[in-house]
Amino acid sequence: MSVNCPSCDWPAPTVVSAHGTVRYLRCVCGQWLIVDDGLVVATTGNSLFGRRDTSQR
Ligand SMILES: [Zn+2]
Repeated sequence: MSVNCPSCDWPAPTVVSAHGTVRYLRCVCGQWLIVDDGLVVATTGNSLFGRRDTSQR
């Protein structure tokens, strides 16, 4: 299973943690991907993980 970052198209975001079929990946560009059973179900910028940065949206 691999996903491309929707932000920068990096082909191999790093898996940070996994819970069942859900995986949390972090891209080199700072984008977070939440993948469930091989499908990207959510993405976030830098802002949702401990940092507020309104420029991401
Ligand atoms: Zn990226």
